[in-house]
Amino acid sequence: MAEMPFVNTDIEDEFIVNATSEINIKKKRKRTTGREIEGNEEKKKKVYQPNYFISLPITNLEITGSIQAVQDAIIKKDQRLSKAMVHSGSLHVTMLVMHLSNEEEISIAVGALSDSKDFVEDLLKGKNVDLSFKGIDHFRNEVGFVKLSENDHTAILTEIAETMKKIFQEKGILAGEGRAFKPHLTFMKLSKSTQLRKQAVTSCLFMRFYGNIH
Ligand code: AMP
Repeated sequence: MAEMPFVNTDIEDEFIVNATSEINIKKKRKRTTGREIEGNEEKKKKVYQPNYFISLPITNLEITGSIQAVQDAIIKKDQRLSKAMVHSGSLHVTMLVMHLSNEEEISIAVGALSDSKDFVEDLLKGKNVDLSFKGIDHFRNEVGFVKLSENDHTAILTEIAETMKKIFQEKGILAGEGRAFKPHLTFMKLSKSTQLRKQAVTSCLFMRFYGNIH
């Protein structure tokens, strides 16, 4: 998890730009400054941790209610994990992460977001993208998330995310993390609590929950 970009950040933060009613770009609150990669050749190279992200807020009550039920079941097993839960109002599917270091880059990103909006409208032609969620998984036993059911709608979502990445990158923004888009809905992450991470409230615990809740 050490190399995870958001390990020291929290997502519950203020809106910076509200480009559409559905896609938001938010600033991540940094708890630490960027760190330097250790190692000979890499030493001077600064790690550009993502500090802004574009996401789809998930507000559907059926979905948020089911997530709450999963969170409650986990907390029932271990009260300590309550600190790791993502609040209902912050549930989201991340579309793109990026690093913006100054006002100029922020304004370029706003332009890219606006270009992306035109692309999305062209692609959807007034149709909705219906997202459904099924099953639980985790990243490195530190982030618990609900998976998106794979169907034509997730294929469209992936196309949107990949094209947005391209649009931002073409404008010179450090966007994406060099890995394929994996849509997910995070409901808990140990990075929300330094204490939990230190205690390493652990994988086996995590895995047991997954086994029971699937
Ligand atoms: P998010 O749900 O996008 O807010 O991400 C929650 C956490 O999951 C962050 O620490 C991300 O860095 C991490 N994360 C997101 N996507 C991936 C991925 N594909 N592989 C590993 N970790 C990820």
